[in-house]
Amino acid sequence: MKKRVLIAGGGIAGVEAAIQLRRAGMPVTLISNRPSLFVYPLSIWVPTGERTIEDVSIDLKRLAERHGFDLVIDEVAEIQIKKKQLRLTTAGWTAYEYLIVGLGAGKRPVKGMEEHTLSICASPDQHDRIRERLVEIIETGSGRIAVGFGGNPDDPSAVRGGPAFELMFNIDHLLRKKGVRDRFELTFFAPMPSPGARMGPDALTALGKFFKRLNIRRHFGVKITEFKENGIAFEDGSFIESDLIIYIPGLAGHPILKKSDIPLNKAGFVQINHYCEVMHNFDDTLDAYNVFAIGDTAALDGPDWRAKQGHIAEAMAQAAVYNILAMERGSTHRRGYFEHLNIICLMDSGNGAALVFRSDRRAFFLPLPFIGHAVKRLWGFYYRNTKLKRIPRLPGM
Ligand SMILES: Cc1cc2nc3c(=O)[nH]c(=O)nc-3n(C[C@H](O)[C@H](O)[C@H](O)COP(=O)(O)OP(=O)(O)OC[C@H]3O[C@@H](n4cnc5c(N)ncnc54)[C@H](O)[C@@H]3O)c2cc1C
Repeated sequence: MKKRVLIAGGGIAGVEAAIQLRRAGMPVTLISNRPSLFVYPLSIWVPTGERTIEDVSIDLKRLAERHGFDLVIDEVAEIQIKKKQLRLTTAGWTAYEYLIVGLGAGKRPVKGMEEHTLSICASPDQHDRIRERLVEIIETGSGRIAVGFGGNPDDPSAVRGGPAFELMFNIDHLLRKKGVRDRFELTFFAPMPSPGARMGPDALTALGKFFKRLNIRRHFGVKITEFKENGIAFEDGSFIESDLIIYIPGLAGHPILKKSDIPLNKAGFVQINHYCEVMHNFDDTLDAYNVFAIGDTAALDGPDWRAKQGHIAEAMAQAAVYNILAMERGSTHRRGYFEHLNIICLMDSGNGAALVFRSDRRAFFLPLPFIGHAVKRLWGFYYRNTKLKRIPRLPGM
C-alpha cells in the first residue's frame, strides 16, 4: 500500500506539493490553519481596493475536492521528527509516514511593531485594515504614509522588499488617480543602505529614478529602534512622522519550529539539503526522517542575493514530490532546487510593472508600462484557474 504524505501548511508550497502528489496517485492529507490558500503575490492590490481578500484567496476545500486530497483545518503546534509525529491543536498527536513542512515564515520583531504597524505579509485581515485606514486618511484630505521593510542579519534570504516597493507605488498611483497626491507625504524606509540591491544594479538604479520621479522620500541605511503611534524612530535619532505605517518585517523561522526537534539554521529556518530533505544530524545521506521542508519555511542555500519567492516554493514542492516518489520506487535518483534559484518578479506599480530578473549569469530590469500591470493580473487568473483545474497548465509553469 502507498504511504500517506502529510503536508503541514496550505500556502503556495504546500498546495503545489499536494497537487503533484495526487497526480502521482499518492494519498495526501493537507493541514492548514486557514480555510483558503492566500495568494500573497496578488494581495498587494487589496489595500488599494483593486482586489478583495476573496479575489486573492482560493478555497482549500474546493482544491481538495478537485485534486482528491484530504483536508484538515487545524493548527500545527509542534513537530517531533524522531517520533514521526506532529501535534495539532485540536486533533492532538498525529503520526505520519512522510511529512512535508510548508508552514511559511515567522517575523523578526521590532519594538512597537505589533501595536503601531500593519503588514501585507501577515494574516489577510491586515490587508483589509490597511485599506480601511487608507480610505480614512484620504478622506481627511492630507496625511503622511510610510512604507518599509526590514531584514535579518542571520539569513540574507529572509527579507521581503519587492512587495513593499509594489505597495508604495500602488499607493502613489491611487493618490494620483484621486487627484490628491500633492497633499500626501510618502516615505519609503529600510535599514539597509541600498534596499533592492539584491535585484541587481539595473533594478537599483531604476528604483532610485522611480522614487525621485514620484517624489517619494527615502530613509535608508539606519536601524529602526522603535515604532510609535505617530511614527518611526531610528538609531541615529531621526524620526519619520506618519499617520499610517506599513512595515514588512524581516523574516524568521516559523515560531512552532522552536518547540520541535527539527534542525534549524541560526535564523530559525529548517535545514535541508539540495533535495529539500531534512537531514539526520545534517549528514548528507539519503536515509533520513522522511521529512521535507519547502518554501519560506526552509533555509535556502545559494548566492547572497537569493530570496524566498513563490516560484521557488513551487520548485521546492516539485523537487520534494519527485524525491518522495523516487524513495517509494526504491530509486536513488533525486531532484534538487538549486537550479531554480533566481529572482523573477513583476514589480507592479498600479499602472504598469517592471520585470525584474536575476540569476547567476545575468540581471535585468525591464519596464513594462501599462502592459506589465495587465500581465500580472493575467498571471493571477492563470494561477487560480490552473490550480482549480479549469484550464491546463503550461509546461514549466
Ligand atoms: C505581499 C507579498 C507579495 C509577494 N509577491 C511575490 C511575487 O510577486 N512573486 C513571488 O515569487 N513571490 C512573492 N511573494 C513571496 C511568496 O508569496 C512566498 O514566497 C510564498 O507564499 C511562500 O509559500 P509558502 O507556502 O512557503 O508560505 P505561505 O504562502 O506563507 O503559506 C504558509 C501556509 O501555512 C499555513 N500555516 C502557518 N502556520 C501554520 C500552523 N501552525 N498550522 C497550520 N498551518 C499553518 C498558513 O496559513 C499558510 O497558508 C510575496 C509575498 C508577500 C507576503
